[in-house]
Amino acid sequence: MTDPSERSDPADGERSLPGVGLVKGLGVTLKTMTRRSATQQYPDVAPALPPRSRGVIALLAENCTVCMLCARECPDWCIYIDSHKEEVVVPGAARARQRNVLDRFDIDFSLCMYCGICIEVCPFDALYWSPEFEYAEYDIKDLLHDKEHLGEWMGTVPPPPAHDPNGEPAKEETAAARKAAIPAERPSAAPPRAGERPTAAPHRSAERPPPRPGSRPAGENATGEGPTP
Ligand code: SF4
Ligand code: SF4
Repeated sequence: MTDPSERSDPADGERSLPGVGLVKGLGVTLKTMTRRSATQQYPDVAPALPPRSRGVIALLAENCTVCMLCARECPDWCIYIDSHKEEVVVPGAARARQRNVLDRFDIDFSLCMYCGICIEVCPFDALYWSPEFEYAEYDIKDLLHDKEHLGEWMGTVPPPPAHDPNGEPAKEETAAARKAAIPAERPSAAPPRAGERPTAAPHRSAERPPPRPGSRPAGENATGEGPTP
């Protein structure tokens, strides 16, 4: 058994002095009491999260075409989709068309790892991030959000960020501007001025190239007769 007087640890030696711990504690208090507090008073005060925080996934069911891309690309396989086909009669069309009707769209947030791949791959803008994160449940099974529940999150999706005025225009805008400029670039025929004879349009026959040797003259039919009336 070791004799307490033989201990070489200075901390143990200090512990024996009365009031040292109290002074140290007060020193820490004095040091930190002048600093700005970093404590977040959640849930009394909601945290100021960035608008694009990954809280929960919202579904805009009208945009979903049941292409299954999101379910296929989800690394956790936590998206469950069911659908059926429906015939749509289009007036004037030769036959009825078919379209997919979404029956079930569930995301299991107990498996989701919030990677955002499903939102990235959706080609029809049917999935969005919402910054809402207060959907903890007592039962893990309740973390399976169905189509209606996912649709309710759409109200919390922030609007898209404004365009950067110094950024490049979108390719759709550029294409539309180019298309609109095409008629303006074509030379338009100026109307004749008063007293001026309008320019006669060149006769079509004048534009025709001369017949090649051995070929039939223009207007003659296969029997060698004159032009067909
Ligand atoms: S965020 Fe990732 S893990 Fe979650 S549902 Fe989408 S693809 Fe799956
Ligand atoms: S990728 Fe988009 S459109 Fe396709 S099934 Fe998923 S949510 Fe629907």
